[in-house]
Amino acid sequence: MRTVTGPTDHVVVVGAGLAGLSAALRLAGAGRQVTVVEREPEPGGRAGVVRTQGYTFDTGPTVLTMPELIADALDCVGERLEDWLTLTPVDPLYRATYADGTQLDVHADPQRMQQEIREVCGPADAEGFARFTDFVSKVYRYEMRDFIDTNMDSPLSVATPNLARLAAIGGFRTMAPKVAQYLKDPRLQKVYSFQAMYAGLSPYDALAIYSVISYMDSVAGVYFAKGGMHAVPQALAGAAEKHGVTFRYGTTAERVELDGRRAVAVHTTDGERIACDAVVLNPDLPVAWRDLLGRTPRRVKRLTYSPSCYLLLAGSTASYDPGALHNISFGHSWKNVFTELIDERRVMSDPSLLVTVPTHMDRSLAPDGRHSYYVLFPTPNLDADIDWRTFAPRYREHVIETLESRGYPGFGDAIEVEHVTTPLDWQAQGMERGAPFAAAHTFGQTGPFRPRNIWGDNIVFAGSGTTPGVGVPMVLVSGRLAAERITGRDRSYRSRTWP
Ligand SMILES: Cc1cc2nc3c(=O)[nH]c(=O)nc-3n(C[C@H](O)[C@H](O)[C@H](O)COP(=O)(O)OP(=O)(O)OC[C@H]3O[C@@H](n4cnc5c(N)ncnc54)[C@H](O)[C@@H]3O)c2cc1C
Repeated sequence: MRTVTGPTDHVVVVGAGLAGLSAALRLAGAGRQVTVVEREPEPGGRAGVVRTQGYTFDTGPTVLTMPELIADALDCVGERLEDWLTLTPVDPLYRATYADGTQLDVHADPQRMQQEIREVCGPADAEGFARFTDFVSKVYRYEMRDFIDTNMDSPLSVATPNLARLAAIGGFRTMAPKVAQYLKDPRLQKVYSFQAMYAGLSPYDALAIYSVISYMDSVAGVYFAKGGMHAVPQALAGAAEKHGVTFRYGTTAERVELDGRRAVAVHTTDGERIACDAVVLNPDLPVAWRDLLGRTPRRVKRLTYSPSCYLLLAGSTASYDPGALHNISFGHSWKNVFTELIDERRVMSDPSLLVTVPTHMDRSLAPDGRHSYYVLFPTPNLDADIDWRTFAPRYREHVIETLESRGYPGFGDAIEVEHVTTPLDWQAQGMERGAPFAAAHTFGQTGPFRPRNIWGDNIVFAGSGTTPGVGVPMVLVSGRLAAERITGRDRSYRSRTWP
């Protein structure tokens, strides 16, 4: 594995997103002096928070999976997850409602899920589900160690026995027909393949190896952190600080000072020069290249990006009691949703959407008698010909009308506090093309083909734009991979995490 050269005593981490925090903890655990430079007044990045009028809204991720990766990051400095976070398993993981008026609850427990499928879809699909979970569990097992949770220095490094195993089980077939091989009911096909969208892909284009996301999400289980997702970066930053990491909040990195291909210091917009032996860059990768390193490799210029989203956070007087934390409403349209978003670059004409209800799990997130709703509509990114400055108010009306026709009557009138983020806002927060889900995970932008996490003598990248990719678990892994580029391989990691 390639590592940085020269001394590594003082590392500056730019960005206290989950990837930057994961890297900082591991570097501190390995005895490095670490300074984290973060633009915002608190940690989290995309896992941010808005506190207003008694409401606490998560502004980014809400579906928390694979908490063992959080535990491992804390373990690097000898801290225990239970001392920093209260996590509760979420059940059902999702409540899916369909245009025909039917409903399906997704459970992590295979027996309960089989029972649910038997009741809603019939015995053949219940039996198919057992084979489907066997398939995605194998995909996870074969992929995680060799292709996700490892630094790859060359495309040749994918040539492991697990590559052949993945091919043998059909991992390189297209996801939608592969899922349909096990699950015949279109409702099940939707609920076990929509996760391709997290990777910026249509299940009709994605390879079945991306079902690894369905495994992490809908088979391994979903958790809720007391206080909301933002409690996770708060915990990681708190533990890092306790173990000597210096946090410089409200400090924006302006550029990395280079001596040839060696980073020697980080300059802030306040005119300060912070000398370093190595640097970890956590801002969105193309932005880090352009703004901090002053150049953009051709390969990074050519990246294609995932769709974006319109996010409405609503504090409300109305209680809809959907009965679940995460509620997906599927429209009649399915394949066309992806065609519109990805190929035609326009908003969905018959939307599929997510409504998360944080107050379903934690009443402290809203004032007494009030409720909070996190409404996410996927949209095209800024490659689309949409001017969000003029379109956003019209789209808001469409969002409200859709919600009111999908089981949330009077949604608009009940809103007392709202916070909207459009693709233009994501761009203003430093996300290339207004795409908060980073470069799409097309085959040519995944694994050894994704932008590398090391450049020059001592410059390392962490976050969803580099390896392994997007999502809370992936960026926690990304922070670990970044730290290993500086410290060398963490030999105890495998036995800690994959006993
Ligand atoms: C709306 C939304 C919903 C999502 N839902 C889920 C979900 O349910 N489950 C899931 O697993 N994932 C989800 N994701 C994806 C997940 O949130 C991201 O992949 C992950 O949080 C990205 O972390 P990161 O560390 O790569 O980047 P970031 O969180 O963007 O961190 C980068 C940090 O760098 C800082 N920074 C940038 N520029 C500078 C500078 N010049 N100087 C100093 N600091 C700087 C930023 O302020 C930020 O703190 C969602 C994302 C969004 C936006």
